[in-house]
Amino acid sequence: MKKYDAVIVGAGPAGIFSALELMEDGKGLKILLVEKGKDIDKRFCPMGEDEPTCTKCSECDLLSGWGGAGAFSDGKLTLSPEVGGFLTRYLDRGTLQSLIDYVDAVYVRFGAPAEIYGGNVDAVRELEGVALKNDLILIPSRVRHIGTELCRGVLTRMREALQRNVDVSFKSGVEKILTNDGPSARRVSGVRLASGEEVSADVVILAPGREGSRWLEREVKVLKLTRLQNPVDIGVRVEIPASVFEHLTSITYEPKLIFYSKKFDDKVRTFCVNPYGEVVKEYLKGICTVNGHSYGQRKTNNTNFALLVSTIFTEPFNEPISYGRYIARLANFLGQGVIVQRLGDLHSGRRSTTERIAKGIVQPTLKDATPGDLSFIIPYRYLSDILEMLEALDALAPGVNSRHTLLYGLEVKFYSMQLRLTDNLETEIENLFAIGDGAGVSRGLVQASVSGVMAAREVLRRMGH
Ligand SMILES: Cc1cc2nc3c(=O)[nH]c(=O)nc-3n(C[C@H](O)[C@H](O)[C@H](O)COP(=O)(O)OP(=O)(O)OC[C@H]3O[C@@H](n4cnc5c(N)ncnc54)[C@H](O)[C@@H]3O)c2cc1C
Repeated sequence: MKKYDAVIVGAGPAGIFSALELMEDGKGLKILLVEKGKDIDKRFCPMGEDEPTCTKCSECDLLSGWGGAGAFSDGKLTLSPEVGGFLTRYLDRGTLQSLIDYVDAVYVRFGAPAEIYGGNVDAVRELEGVALKNDLILIPSRVRHIGTELCRGVLTRMREALQRNVDVSFKSGVEKILTNDGPSARRVSGVRLASGEEVSADVVILAPGREGSRWLEREVKVLKLTRLQNPVDIGVRVEIPASVFEHLTSITYEPKLIFYSKKFDDKVRTFCVNPYGEVVKEYLKGICTVNGHSYGQRKTNNTNFALLVSTIFTEPFNEPISYGRYIARLANFLGQGVIVQRLGDLHSGRRSTTERIAKGIVQPTLKDATPGDLSFIIPYRYLSDILEMLEALDALAPGVNSRHTLLYGLEVKFYSMQLRLTDNLETEIENLFAIGDGAGVSRGLVQASVSGVMAAREVLRRMGH
């Protein structure tokens, strides 16, 4: 049986940053990085090139492989502790900020551009004041934008840096986590790969991302680890003329705004703002949802962002992922994919049609969305929350609540199961760490990367490095 000091499961940003940190400071450590997808240069999604829709490949090249879900992402590095994860549960804000700065510097070292958006403190403060007067909370965040085209290059350079000192295995995921159960404590002892091969290891770091969250859930049940309650985010993608948000996006790049609705007191928030970007379809295991991108070089006349409502269900219901998928499936059922509607049509209680959309000021950047009626799909509570927030946003950015504004549905964000973890991100099993989106500690590239550094530093400390 092969023996390693540490096995890392998943080559997304969390796993890659663990490996980079272990390699740089743990001279002589034997490290194996196991990724069930393909290497970065072999990842290719047939959709859009040869196929108009998702062909449902057995392993999704968009979400799996070197770089994880981040490889084809927009590469927005959000550099504020309040955004992109939950690491403030485990670290104080100051320590988290210094780790964020650390991983940001690593991204720059591997080729991320130098420019940072949102660094103008006075302008951000002024905006915060205006937002507050309109019931909106602005979360200031600084963003470094790698851009979809450059992401691959950054990840390729990381791959090259690691390949000399870290063994990387592709296309055969980890199937089982192995443990030694003593009388009082349980300790990890290695992993079994899908190929059947067993690998022994002193430490295992789990970084399977959202793509591997179902697998992790199954393993967590078998290992009887404690799980925490999880929310689901449901909403729409909004598309407006870029000029309407220009005064916000030029100061903060990605304005994160929170609003508590009057009727239901629900938390509604903006998410993933793409100035001059494009609305895109996203396939999540058999369902089609909506998302947004912006490219470093290619620009449209529109800005898009998501408006999402977070719900944590209470007992006895505990299947937020199935609930979100159920509603998204309804949109797919009625619209055969993504539905787009003009806000004015929604207010008038009528569906949008191709002709009505063509008359609008905002032309959809997602060309094959079906004009329809979102009120047949989105539950009243969410729709009411979203309409209230659009009204509030209009005071900050006049024109957002225009009848020409386009709404695409459904946008849904799932949270991976959250595990009970120590402040070093160790599970209830000794030397078994869980990091990144799959463990429910992050929701973005930066905090996923930070969580990788946190686990690796603890491993190095235990191994005396
Ligand atoms: C379309 C899109 C755009 C995004 N844009 C941004 C953005 O601009 N900014 C931002 O901050 N975030 C963005 N995100 C989110 C970001 O990509 C994720 O937060 C981040 O990639 C999470 O990192 P991770 O390492 O935890 O997991 P992942 O990146 O999901 O990587 C996990 C890896 O583990 C592998 N794996 C799973 N199970 C196993 C197993 N059993 N054995 C072996 N390997 C396994 C998977 O194949 C995958 O490659 C975007 C996500 C998507 C989908």
